[in-house]
Amino acid sequence: MEFIREKVRHPLVVRRVHVSVVRHVVPSIRRVTLTGDELDGFTSAGPGDHLKVFLPDPGTGTLTVPEVVPDGLRRPDRGVVISRDYTPRDFRPSGARPAELDIDFVLHGDAGPASAWASRAKPGDELAIAGPRGSRPVPAGIDGLVIVADETALPAASRWLRAVGDDVATTALFDVADETVDDYLDRATARRASIEWLHREDGDDVVGALRSLGPIGERTFVVLAGEATGLVPLRRYLRHELGLPAGQVAASGYWKRGVVNLDHHAPIDPTDPD
Ligand SMILES: Cc1cc2nc3c(=O)[nH]c(=O)nc-3n(C[C@H](O)[C@H](O)[C@H](O)COP(=O)(O)OP(=O)(O)OC[C@H]3O[C@@H](n4cnc5c(N)ncnc54)[C@H](O)[C@@H]3O)c2cc1C
Repeated sequence: MEFIREKVRHPLVVRRVHVSVVRHVVPSIRRVTLTGDELDGFTSAGPGDHLKVFLPDPGTGTLTVPEVVPDGLRRPDRGVVISRDYTPRDFRPSGARPAELDIDFVLHGDAGPASAWASRAKPGDELAIAGPRGSRPVPAGIDGLVIVADETALPAASRWLRAVGDDVATTALFDVADETVDDYLDRATARRASIEWLHREDGDDVVGALRSLGPIGERTFVVLAGEATGLVPLRRYLRHELGLPAGQVAASGYWKRGVVNLDHHAPIDPTDPD
């Protein structure tokens, strides 16, 4: 079955924001709460939404932000624009309190400017964000959802679990470093799915776990997100062994080992693009 997921477009806006709170959700994931007047009008309607986070140059500490022009974003003539893709995990519009946006950063050391910045972020630090440019809703008419995600896609997975109706049987396979990550979800969200936490430290086999789910019904939607190379055998199994159509499987490489700032629009399996 092909699912229709019309993309809702949002105006492209660059917003300057600052950090209000930081906390570790689990030891390897730091939640940064952003606030500021420019969050007024922020919208994120789809569980798989992402935005661009603009970060200060680690060398100079200067934050260089592009400007919005009719066909997209234009780099200023001076300064280095550094950006990475992140999931808007939670947005609380302004009311009694100022608007707040939570982004969960996986800390993987200082090799990347985003991880390095997040590990040191403190209240008052400045950032900019752009997007989401568009949102795809939960596909209409599904009765099942299977999610396979690593740490970087736990924010999106959490949004999927909260976005689907109670009538959607949801299974999640979370491929994480070790058991310290198992506490990532709050209890109410965790109760919305049958969840298996797979630990790379123990050599747990994600492909085997997906196979052990057995046949996947035609009204079940499958979301794969995480390290791009690791998604290749999962997608091959679903598309070629189970024969699921392209529209039933959303596979998105969120990062790739050894690649800086992966372009997630590139096919995860260039020899077999959709
Ligand atoms: C749609 C989308 C949504 C995303 N949402 C989130 C999110 O909510 N939270 C989140 O943490 N990430 C998320 N990511 C992934 C994030 O954009 C990448 O991990 C990004 O590369 C991090 O930037 P960096 O500056 O830390 O590292 P980079 O400068 O991009 O990379 C430096 C080195 O670190 C490696 N690396 C990058 N990420 C990781 C990692 N997670 N673990 C180990 N090594 C890594 C790279 O392979 C490279 O060798 C998302 C990506 C996409 C495409």
